[in-house]
Amino acid sequence: MQLLMMGPPGAGKGTQAAILVKKFSIPQISTGDMFRAAVREGTELGKQAKACMDAGRLVPDEVTVGIVRERLAKEDCANGFILDGFPRTVEQADALTKILDELNLKLTRVLNIHVPAEDLIERAVGRRICKNCGATYHVKFHPPKGDTCDECGGELYQRADDNEATMKKRLDVYEAQTRPLVEYYKRAGIYAEIDGRQPIAKVTADLEGVLTSLH
Ligand code: ADP
Ligand code: ADP
Ligand code: ZN
Repeated sequence: MQLLMMGPPGAGKGTQAAILVKKFSIPQISTGDMFRAAVREGTELGKQAKACMDAGRLVPDEVTVGIVRERLAKEDCANGFILDGFPRTVEQADALTKILDELNLKLTRVLNIHVPAEDLIERAVGRRICKNCGATYHVKFHPPKGDTCDECGGELYQRADDNEATMKKRLDVYEAQTRPLVEYYKRAGIYAEIDGRQPIAKVTADLEGVLTSLH
């Protein structure tokens, strides 16, 4: 199963992808997570990505496509994967089609989590992430039991780009560069939209409903 999780920043893509990964035992491929790992490692890629991320801009297509191409060629993707946060431009979507053609694969479904813009800033600003395992929490909507990660006890942190000013810029970038992908995948006939304003478990149930209606 080759899934693509779409939606604006803060819609719940990462949260849902992490749940589906456990259910289907296929890897989650998050370009955002890959860029943050490169920033932590201090690589050239990390330096370039950090400048873009801090400004709320997209990392250039050729850089992003390159890391996804390498990742999808790995053996653990052979039985399926969940792309989370890629593609974000029409150019990236075209590149993905080519990469999948080369691997003899096709996207099974594009799942777009719809959340209105007015909710997204609160979601991002309240987001907290475990430094150790990457689990995602929200101070109000999905709080940890204590001050640390419920799963592993790791320290929780707030992403540098999860502030109101950068989020506004990221939402503009989404509208201009990523929203056109909705029409792109609607035309491909594999698109489904899920109401992301519901509680996390209900969003998961709706996603699973779409996936079981496949056969
Ligand atoms: P969110 O889940 O809030 O949308 P991500 O973790 O997916 O955030 O992305 C964080 C940042 O990483 C983006 O604002 C952008 O700078 C960069 N990024 C992630 N994915 C892509 C992509 N497919 N193309 C270009 N830049 C990306
Ligand atoms: P994305 O990967 O799309 O940027 P995340 O999965 O990281 O989004 O979710 C953004 C924030 O919103 C996180 O703090 C997360 O805990 C919270 N969140 C995720 N899904 C929901 C939901 N259905 N209702 C309320 N808050 C949610
Ligand atoms: Zn953790």
